[in-house]
Amino acid sequence: MLRTHTCGELRIKDVQQQVTLTGWVQRLRDKGSLVWVDLRDRYGITQLFLEEGKSDPKLIEAVRQLGREFVVKATGKVVERQSKNDKMPTGDIEIRVETLEVLNPSKLPPFTIEEDTDGGDDLRMKYRYLDLRRTPVRESLQLRHKMAQQTRTYLDSLNFIEVETPVLIKSTPEGARDFVVPSRINHGEFYALPQSPQTFKQLLMVSGFDRYYQIVKCFRDEDLRADRQPEFTQIDCEMAFVTREDILSTFEGLIRHLFRTVKGIDLPSLPHMTYADAMANYGSDKPDTRFGMKFTDLTSLVQGKGFQVFDGAELVVGICATGAATYTRKQIDELTEYVKRPQIGAKGLVWARYEAGGSLKSSVDKFYNEQELKKWAEAFNAQPGDLILVLAGPADSTRKALSELRLLLGTQLGLRDKNTFSALWVIDFPLLEWDSEANRFNAMHHPFTSPKREDLHLLDSDPGKVRANAYDMVINGTEVGGGSIRIHDRPTQQLMFKKLGFTDEEAKKQFGFLMEAFEFGAPPHGGIAFGFDRLCSLFGGVDSIRDFIAFPKNNAGRDTMIDTPSTISPDQLRELGIAVVEEKK
Ligand code: ASP
Repeated sequence: MLRTHTCGELRIKDVQQQVTLTGWVQRLRDKGSLVWVDLRDRYGITQLFLEEGKSDPKLIEAVRQLGREFVVKATGKVVERQSKNDKMPTGDIEIRVETLEVLNPSKLPPFTIEEDTDGGDDLRMKYRYLDLRRTPVRESLQLRHKMAQQTRTYLDSLNFIEVETPVLIKSTPEGARDFVVPSRINHGEFYALPQSPQTFKQLLMVSGFDRYYQIVKCFRDEDLRADRQPEFTQIDCEMAFVTREDILSTFEGLIRHLFRTVKGIDLPSLPHMTYADAMANYGSDKPDTRFGMKFTDLTSLVQGKGFQVFDGAELVVGICATGAATYTRKQIDELTEYVKRPQIGAKGLVWARYEAGGSLKSSVDKFYNEQELKKWAEAFNAQPGDLILVLAGPADSTRKALSELRLLLGTQLGLRDKNTFSALWVIDFPLLEWDSEANRFNAMHHPFTSPKREDLHLLDSDPGKVRANAYDMVINGTEVGGGSIRIHDRPTQQLMFKKLGFTDEEAKKQFGFLMEAFEFGAPPHGGIAFGFDRLCSLFGGVDSIRDFIAFPKNNAGRDTMIDTPSTISPDQLRELGIAVVEEKK
């Protein structure tokens, strides 16, 4: 090594040692008679100094010429600092420089490379390699590394083996579009990049591998949305000879292991909530259970009092915000504006305020006297000082809108602390989901998910009611993982494809290999996949997953650093058998 120590290593006990450090110049401070340099590497920052009268004047002059981010090698003696800095692990010492060599100069970086930077998103993405020098970004990647290590430790201890599956494959449907790769050798033919290793991990169960996992890249060509990456990483797992309960307890174990080893948190065991309950109580299949504010159905209580909005509604449903009676009219108007935004789609918001003094006031006083409002309060178990908020309309969209309002209030009332974790399983998802545009059912999870046996008889008469052996893990209102017990016999899989609108021919062409494998002694099996980037961001207490990916794409799906996607040459296109529009001579 060119160095004897790292920049994060030296302490008071090292005083008098002769050392050599290497790193980047973070900052230079020139007080005339004294010159300091903060030298930074991955491990920390150590202060170097030179003193007029004591250090070589030529050396002082050379140091004065150093710019930010120059790479240098410095030797000198460790000395105790006059004024210590207890905010830095190395803050008790500094290095009296004796020699200094510039290993490589640097252009002036386009943004400051410090904890808080002045660089905007675009600039930091274009120079991601510089952004990665910043401590918070580096720490995010170190957290990711630790999570991956601990995932492997846990799964390995349970006999899971990591198997790599191919990247050039044929479509695996997870509900997104495929990225495709043209084949040069077979013109007109394409590979698809895996949306997940789903079919391969199932085949590994047929092969008898029994317990598989892989920390694996997946690719989905979805419409762009904030914080979505076209390529992302999953912790992908599959087990044979298991029931749903086995899977839930195994992976509850994984998540609790991660919380314990990475964050030092003892996560309580995860409650199970049915999809139906999640929707009824929270209006969401990924409820944020860090706080209560569950839904109360008021439909029968409030209808028939002459208030048209409620009388004509399929559902009247509300939440009670503890202690929010202090909300001003302006604040309530803002909540109304919020739910009326097109993305939320509610028509309006009804409120009832349970004043601290015990009286009740509402925005619908004309239709509901105080006695009636008391009944509302009872339904919510509201106390003086609380605020009741009510939405009405079609059941599904009203629940969804109220769910958004609940989250907003949770945030406003400080109930969504990033360092509090509430995890649960949501189980018994519907098997199918009606696609009103395509006029047919889609698999809610994917087509390999098995229906619950007790619901099988509904598959013909009322397919929308059939529940699946599918489950999601939800933490703080985020779906961090999901999976299912699979179909493992050909007739059921064939039937499933049929229900999803595949002709026998299409099913065979796309998934014949899997259905055939099911005829060679496929064991019962099931699995799960966790969104690894998301899990890391949750552990890191940061909203964006981008910080946890070394080289992410921006919100337009571009990597602006290497400038891709980009065009390829006509020669390359020709070689791939992709039609080139010839320029006119
Ligand atoms: N392949 C599924 C997904 O990517 C997970 C699973 O069913 O194991 O969501």
